[in-house]
Amino acid sequence: MSTLLGVPHKTYLFTPGPTPVPPQVLAVLAEPVVHHRSPDFRPTYERCLSRLRDVARTANDVLLYTSSGTGAFEAAVANLVTPGEPHLVVSAGNFGERWAALTRTYGADVDHLRYEWGETPDPADVRARLADRSAKAVWLVQSETSTGVVADMQSLAAAAKETGALVVVDAVSSLGAIPCETDAWGLDVVVSGSQKALMTPPGLGLCSVSEAALGATGASPRFYFDWERTRKAQAKLDAPFTPAVPLVAALDVALGLLLDEGLEAAFERHVRLGRAARAGAKAMGLELFSPDEDRSAVVTAVRAPDGIDARDVVKALRDRFGMTIAGGQGELLGKIFRLGHIGFFDVFDIATMLAAVEIVLADLGADVERGVAVTAALEAYEHAAPVR
Ligand code: PLP
Repeated sequence: MSTLLGVPHKTYLFTPGPTPVPPQVLAVLAEPVVHHRSPDFRPTYERCLSRLRDVARTANDVLLYTSSGTGAFEAAVANLVTPGEPHLVVSAGNFGERWAALTRTYGADVDHLRYEWGETPDPADVRARLADRSAKAVWLVQSETSTGVVADMQSLAAAAKETGALVVVDAVSSLGAIPCETDAWGLDVVVSGSQKALMTPPGLGLCSVSEAALGATGASPRFYFDWERTRKAQAKLDAPFTPAVPLVAALDVALGLLLDEGLEAAFERHVRLGRAARAGAKAMGLELFSPDEDRSAVVTAVRAPDGIDARDVVKALRDRFGMTIAGGQGELLGKIFRLGHIGFFDVFDIATMLAAVEIVLADLGADVERGVAVTAALEAYEHAAPVR
């Protein structure tokens, strides 16, 4: 076994959420808590909501909840679903399946366009399903974090819009990392969370909501997650309930960093990070599970080599180097490991994770040459990436 040792208590967070938080964002979390209905908070709240609109590229309201991403998604379900109404849910992994379960929980009559995990949803299939049966809303996942697949949201949304359906998008792991053109693509609802590409600790969920979606709310019971209650309160900069004040301040700083970098520059960085991770994995002789394409810029899913359980790779990285990567979920448990690269990541983070993966794979018996992955990753990162 390699004798390289990590420093006790030094840790690395390389999962696709939560993600590392920049020091400027952590610093604001150490400031005294202010009252949410006072002038101390309102400028921060206003700026944060406005920056969220900029990042989501929308003129719509972005409603902010003290919840995880699933809470904001449940808000969409509670507001849009009336029991018995037809909805189309498209799934190709863990999160799409969660939305099928959640919409059913609220009594939706769900047509489930279910792909195998790892497949990429096809707009032609959405069109065909909607031709058979119209739906009030089509529920889509932009970045299926469980598989690493990023779907072509613009085309999928266009297929749904042709029939007049509302489009609801899970952008939990994609908002801020890859283009999500809420208004230009006609996305009625875009759901995300603080702890992924938005570089903030977990605890805030958000939901951008179009006029059409606000006008189409249904009859399911709701209180905390009632869109109208939050919309009205936010319009007066008066949160309806006590928000996680420090997290809002943190999100405000993080969004400022992202907008300072520039969204297009951040998207290009993520494309390059994805290229670097894939190049490194391939140089080690590993097989990619996620597609080998620029769009898959959120998380790189890699198949464990024959005879090696991916859980052992995850465990060895944690035990030996204090490094957390993600394993496979559901049916992919033990088969893949996932290298996250959204948010506060640069190519040296990718190099670090690849160097460590090389070591643990070799120790687990894989035939891996030291150093090749890092070299390939750095080379792949160097070339400018035309984002679109
Ligand atoms: N959707 C996607 C694509 C995700 O990656 C996640 C979290 O990993 C979620 C939804 C759920 O978000 P949360 O864990 O914040 O509720």
